[in-house]
Amino acid sequence: MGRSSKDKRDIYYRLAKEEGWRARSAFKLLQLDEEFNLFKGVSRAVDLCAAPGSWSQVLSRKLRNGKEKSEDVKIVAVDLQAMAPLPGVTQIQGDITKISTAQEIIRHFEGQSADLVVCDGAPDVTGLHDVDEYIQAQLLLAALNITTHVLKPGGNFVAKIFRGKDVTLLYSQLKIFFSTVTCAKPRSSRNSSIEAFVVCQNYSPPEGYVPNMSNPLLDHSYDVDFNQLEGPNRIIVPFLACGDLSAFDSDRTYPLQLDSDKEYQYLPPTQPPIQPPYQQACLLRKNNLLAKENSPSVSLDDALSAMNL
Ligand code: SAM
Repeated sequence: MGRSSKDKRDIYYRLAKEEGWRARSAFKLLQLDEEFNLFKGVSRAVDLCAAPGSWSQVLSRKLRNGKEKSEDVKIVAVDLQAMAPLPGVTQIQGDITKISTAQEIIRHFEGQSADLVVCDGAPDVTGLHDVDEYIQAQLLLAALNITTHVLKPGGNFVAKIFRGKDVTLLYSQLKIFFSTVTCAKPRSSRNSSIEAFVVCQNYSPPEGYVPNMSNPLLDHSYDVDFNQLEGPNRIIVPFLACGDLSAFDSDRTYPLQLDSDKEYQYLPPTQPPIQPPYQQACLLRKNNLLAKENSPSVSLDDALSAMNL
């Protein structure tokens, strides 16, 4: 493919270069703003998974309104990768699923709350859809966790989501914290992609919810005892592996003689099923009447009458 082929194929790629955006993704945030008026009254914003920085550019241009210095505007951008500097944007290089990164973001806000948190995070896609969707969901939950610490009540949160088969679970988790959750697909996001954006408006955590940095879905070194959590703080259901690691693995097959000193003895089921759907098939098989390849097929009625049934 020649150098200009992407230019020819993709209008947003071309436009991004013409308008000076670092990536075509800038248009996704701009189009989401057109629909939801996201930047109105916003002076403090967090951009999670920000590199190469086109969303931060949009925030910087829109919130600072072309001013060289704008003291009351604070934008914090976070990414695993380093990013070229942008006016009015403080950068943190780190992993948003790590507690230490979240704490650094919170420190930057010095007790003040953000009006808006955006997250365009995406994992390196593996091509295995279930894995990609799962990792994307984990990124979104990490972003939500950070958001619960820094967003002011009434603030908004926008995040990339993959509309996979388990997406309704994510919607339900988001609905716990925001009164309105909308799934939006900007024009600049390709139809062929399962990518969309959740626009979560009016942050209103359940009464008594205490944000905690130990996300049971993400981090195994918890600093809280989950059994001690009560009421709304137990909403995110922790998933824990339980049981002795030396116990039998339910996915493995073991030899029948588990105890080598004893002869194996078959034990019938404690309560066999009463009239299982496979009963007829078992009978046919016992009487060698199951249909076989390359042999004339016997109708079920004939087979049953051959067995006097
Ligand atoms: N919004 C950006 C822009 O407009 O330029 C594009 C973001 S790009 C699609 C996704 C970014 O997510 C990548 O830069 C990647 O490094 C970042 N990312 C993925 N996992 C991350 C993680 N765990 N912590 C921080 N950043 C992460």
